[in-house]
Amino acid sequence: MVEQVVGPGVYCVYSTGPSSNSYILAGKKIALIDSGLKENTPNLLNSLKGLGLEPGQVSAVFHTHGHCDHFGGDSLFPDAEVWMHVHDGSLVNARDQDFSAGRYFQGAFFPHVNRYYVESEPLPLRPFNLRLLFSPGHTQGSVCFFEPEKRLLFSGDTLFADAVGRWDLPSGSLVDLQASLRKIRALDFDALLPGHGPLRREPRERQKQAIDERLAELG
Ligand SMILES: [Zn+2]
Repeated sequence: MVEQVVGPGVYCVYSTGPSSNSYILAGKKIALIDSGLKENTPNLLNSLKGLGLEPGQVSAVFHTHGHCDHFGGDSLFPDAEVWMHVHDGSLVNARDQDFSAGRYFQGAFFPHVNRYYVESEPLPLRPFNLRLLFSPGHTQGSVCFFEPEKRLLFSGDTLFADAVGRWDLPSGSLVDLQASLRKIRALDFDALLPGHGPLRREPRERQKQAIDERLAELG
């Protein structure tokens, strides 16, 4: 199932089973934020075709982190740039099964990460103004993407509609996760677009309240 998120050009491919959500950004170029589990590939392909897009048109996949339920769909895009934080990306390139949860999702596809993020540099995806936010905690190399003009936050597995991501997996850290949530709380967004589960569309003050509730639960 694919849904237009906010305005033209931003679409959510909802996850099936344990796969992550995937987001299609159709601007001057076509890019994805995460690509889901390998088993979700037919769903992703159908969603692209439903929008009149071919996999060969996808020029980049921007990953929120290096777990294989977020990158298996990269198998559809052998010529695309594959972006990730250097911490997670170097482990994915080493095919680290423990880090990437590859053992849990058997037969995982591993892409070759060929672009590493630089925090101060905007991502090349006009007309979107995607700003990168390093948000360690779920993994050390987790990132979020903030679009200040459309007031969107793509939060990966750092923050979900009603929960936060796990911090007990390799390189995870509760202290880092709490600090990342406080960074996210300072952003003005009306749509939270997480790595799993439903979107959360509410005014920014309610988004901040929800993060306060999550921080209070973490203690
Ligand atoms: Zn994850």
